[in-house]
Amino acid sequence: MVPSKIDHIGIAVENVEKASVFYRDVLGLELIGTDEVPSQKVKVAMFRIGESRIELLEPTSPDSSIAVFLEKRGPGIHHIAYSVHDVNGAVTELIEKEVKMIDKEGRPGAGGSKIAFIHPKASGRVLTELCQHQVFHNP
Ligand code: ZN
Repeated sequence: MVPSKIDHIGIAVENVEKASVFYRDVLGLELIGTDEVPSQKVKVAMFRIGESRIELLEPTSPDSSIAVFLEKRGPGIHHIAYSVHDVNGAVTELIEKEVKMIDKEGRPGAGGSKIAFIHPKASGRVLTELCQHQVFHNP
């Protein structure tokens, strides 16, 4: 499991529409799409930046992990996501290496992707996501 690139950087925001102004109008990035991920209780906007993306995350419920993050630290960088070919295979490999995982198997992410989070204790407190693409795959 060697990740092929930085898939995206996840940024916690209070409001996706308001935060999009900077990425769309100031930086001029292309909005790829928006999505709601019920399992994570977030609303997502994805912007293309070369081969990577910027993922804006707005909580849809006070018990969303993004709501908890915003309350503790305010808006800002939430996680870094690496592109992997096979998320479940990567998770199995990491568990074999005794890496502490938040997810023991892939779960649905934005835009039909499959994702799993590595525990920040295993990654120097940088929340790290593994991401396998379907819909948001870059050509
Ligand atoms: Zn993400």
